[in-house]
Amino acid sequence: MDLFERIERRGHERVLFCSNRELGLRAVIAIHSTVLGPGLGGLRMWPYADGEAALEDALRLARGMTYKAAVAGVPLGGAKAVLVGDPKRDKSEALFRAFGRFVESLGGNYITAEDVGTGTRDMEWVAAETRWVTGLPVDRGGGGDPSPVTARGVLSGMKAAAQARWGSPSLAGKTIAIQGLGSVGGYLAGFLREEEAKLIGCDIDQEAAARAHDEHGVELVAIDAVYDVDADVFAPCALGATLNPDTIPRLKVEIVAGGANNQLAQPERDGDALAARNILYAPDFVINAGGLINVYNEFVGYRRERALRMAETIFDTTLRLFDLARRDGLPTYLAADRMAEDRLASVAKTGPRHWDRFARDRVPVQP
Ligand code: NAD
Repeated sequence: MDLFERIERRGHERVLFCSNRELGLRAVIAIHSTVLGPGLGGLRMWPYADGEAALEDALRLARGMTYKAAVAGVPLGGAKAVLVGDPKRDKSEALFRAFGRFVESLGGNYITAEDVGTGTRDMEWVAAETRWVTGLPVDRGGGGDPSPVTARGVLSGMKAAAQARWGSPSLAGKTIAIQGLGSVGGYLAGFLREEEAKLIGCDIDQEAAARAHDEHGVELVAIDAVYDVDADVFAPCALGATLNPDTIPRLKVEIVAGGANNQLAQPERDGDALAARNILYAPDFVINAGGLINVYNEFVGYRRERALRMAETIFDTTLRLFDLARRDGLPTYLAADRMAEDRLASVAKTGPRHWDRFARDRVPVQP
């Protein structure tokens, strides 16, 4: 397909190819939408096979960010950047500063952050060249680790699903199967224990699994057995694509609600399969928006308490989403898209945009 057609088909506003031969810099910044605000999305560093693969990932992920921000209710658009390289081998100050200059050249239309393969140290290098960076360490006005805020949002989404399915948000006495007990899954286990839920879980990392067992009383099962557990809720908190034709028929739960991104291997096929089995699916990008809410808060003067409170609004958002799905006879994954598109369409009517307010509100970053 023609390059322009690929970009136009999904409605991206702008794509910047960043290159610096001397430094070996090859990056793509894809801005999908700035209708709701500056396009925010992390910088992913990955050894992409070629420029095509890098571009496709940037386009796909940028669009996803638009939808996530739209449903989360934050005044942010969607974008994403990808950097071609091996995060273990190819990082340098110069590389990230060069990338930072490209970000700066976009004048606030794109805000970067850490993502797979990048971390706070890399963002500090980027911040030496641009204000348009978030996800900085706490001692630089940043929000620090977003995982507790993400987990709080996931808990809120799960409680909304409980309300919709069982008529009460209480998870006391319910059995929750958590796949992946890392940052988000670990915090989620802690919160769920406070709710007096019964916890079952697994992790390929023995240490993470043992920690969740010792600290939060998670009963451990074998990696593959987590799909077969007799539970009320399945919470995917590891990798994407774990909901697919092999796993969905095995589930014995009534609700799927977890923190992992892109849980449905193929959204239409697998979202419909969950609905056909009468399993209530709380769409991943709706209930894991706490991480995005956390970085948004850096732009208005970071306070963890406020970020956590904002993440709890995911309860109401998720309930509204389930209502919309019921009213329009849609599976929940499609209702989530419609909710995002409704907000985008209504705000698009407000006319031209400028980012001065964001620049003023931003906590100053000293290189
Ligand atoms: P993490 O690396 O801290 O935790 C993931 C855990 O999953 C690891 O402990 C890993 O060993 C385990 N794991 C990997 N494959 C597994 C498998 N097959 N079975 C069981 N366990 C497995 O990452 P995280 O920050 O907790 O993120 C988890 C998911 O949530 C990812 O999909 C991420 O994209 C998504 N997410 C995270 C945040 C955040 O704030 N950290 C925000 C939004 C979305």
